[in-house]
Amino acid sequence: MTELTLDPTDWDAFRVLAHRMVDDMLTHLQTLPEQPAWREMPPPVRESFNAPVPREGVGEAAAYATFVDRVMPYTVGNLHPRFWGWVQGQGTPLGMMADMLAAGINPHLAGFNQAPALVEHEVIRWLAELLGLPAGASGLLVTGGTMANTLGLAVARHAGAAALTLDVREDGLQTDAGARPRGRLVFYGSTETHNWARKAAELLGLGNRSFRRVPVDADYRLDLAALARMVDEDVAAGQHPFCVIGTAGTVNTGATDDLDAIADFCRERSLWFHVDGAFGALAHLADGLRHIVKGLGRADSIGFDLHKWGSLPFECACVLVRDAELHRAAFASTASYIAATDRGVIAGGLPFAERGVDLTRGFKALKVWMSLTAHGTAHLAAVIEQNVRQARQLAKRIEQHAELELMAPVPLNIVCFRYAPRDRRDDPALDAVNEEILLRLQEQGIAVPSGTRIGGRYVIRVANVNHRSRAADFEALVDAVVELGREVAAEPVAQTSRG
Ligand SMILES: *Cc1c(COP(=O)(O)O)cnc(C)c1O
Repeated sequence: MTELTLDPTDWDAFRVLAHRMVDDMLTHLQTLPEQPAWREMPPPVRESFNAPVPREGVGEAAAYATFVDRVMPYTVGNLHPRFWGWVQGQGTPLGMMADMLAAGINPHLAGFNQAPALVEHEVIRWLAELLGLPAGASGLLVTGGTMANTLGLAVARHAGAAALTLDVREDGLQTDAGARPRGRLVFYGSTETHNWARKAAELLGLGNRSFRRVPVDADYRLDLAALARMVDEDVAAGQHPFCVIGTAGTVNTGATDDLDAIADFCRERSLWFHVDGAFGALAHLADGLRHIVKGLGRADSIGFDLHKWGSLPFECACVLVRDAELHRAAFASTASYIAATDRGVIAGGLPFAERGVDLTRGFKALKVWMSLTAHGTAHLAAVIEQNVRQARQLAKRIEQHAELELMAPVPLNIVCFRYAPRDRRDDPALDAVNEEILLRLQEQGIAVPSGTRIGGRYVIRVANVNHRSRAADFEALVDAVVELGREVAAEPVAQTSRG
């Protein structure tokens, strides 16, 4: 009997293949500007993903060839210099290689006595310092902003319940038994809060009704007077406010709540202050932008992405918690099969498993560590400032253009606008026209913004976290929107068959 393994049977051949993978990918990245921003999959490619279970393997080289033919060309296009859809980062070649290296050494990051654990501890310390949290803050790298924010809210829930002498880990949130307090645990965030908060409310057993949506002002920032009123009303009604979410960089318009004022309010009312800084938190790195997120460092917890404005490959985000003991108290548990020892491989225990829900975790920290080390935070901050400058420049061009309309303030890196000749601005058909413009921009591979609704109007939205975008890319966008706008507006069918 031959003894089996999944290692290559021919290491030399695999080495050649592996080098080709790196070369092909670097060529792909280097030639992005010459490629379309997006391409629709031809039907045969789409249909090819219905293959039966591969009982017999075709070998590494054939599997790779399939990837090159049928997968690599047909992504959302987020690597491209003219991709500004949703809020998707581009990643970097170094981040790509770091992910390869991390998978290569493939360490288990629940903790353990190993250098990769020290890398994650170090990265968390760096990130806490960069965002203005005190030394000793705790943190964890996770998949995305949704998970980072959810974990922050989970710590807040645990701490808030404990203040009511409710042990949420032991008893859950049921309020119908024995001596437990009546009323709901409730938390607050503006109506512009990202949808993660609803998901988290549901997942944490709080229920969507426990998430109180506070109105915003004309700049899409949380209305503090309304917040105070809502908290008062909830308290009077016997509910238990435990947390306020401030957003640094809302997903729709890039607005940032008055974090300092929310921090004051939370301190006064003994509420947990969580900041969703998915992309906006990183504005804190830049001297010219830090004032926008003033008060960020006063948060009890912050959830933010590194795969958006941090330009790391998916997935990578971080939750930071000011009080390390509270963070641990919300998640830590023990089992005999993972008990720490004084020496050996599990010395130091599994600190990362005690800060979230995952036990087995990969080495995300490596790409953060290598990227910050290689590029330096000053360079990252300069790229972030460049993106904001580009957004403001784009907004200016839109305002100066008689056929374009800026649809929201541009405090950071998001620009919402539409095609709307000055004499037609009240025309409701413009919603359908702009949706059609957006789809043609994408389908013709020109650029990939996304769409949203602002004040009931359909708008084209540019969320710029793109380190590859150049001034000429935004000029190309403006020119294309105007050209497509004229074209679509001249087609009566397109205007009436939609919307
Ligand atoms: C993107 C985003 C999120 C969710 O982060 P994911 O990494 O996509 O899970 C949360 N809040 C805001 C403001 C975002 O922009």
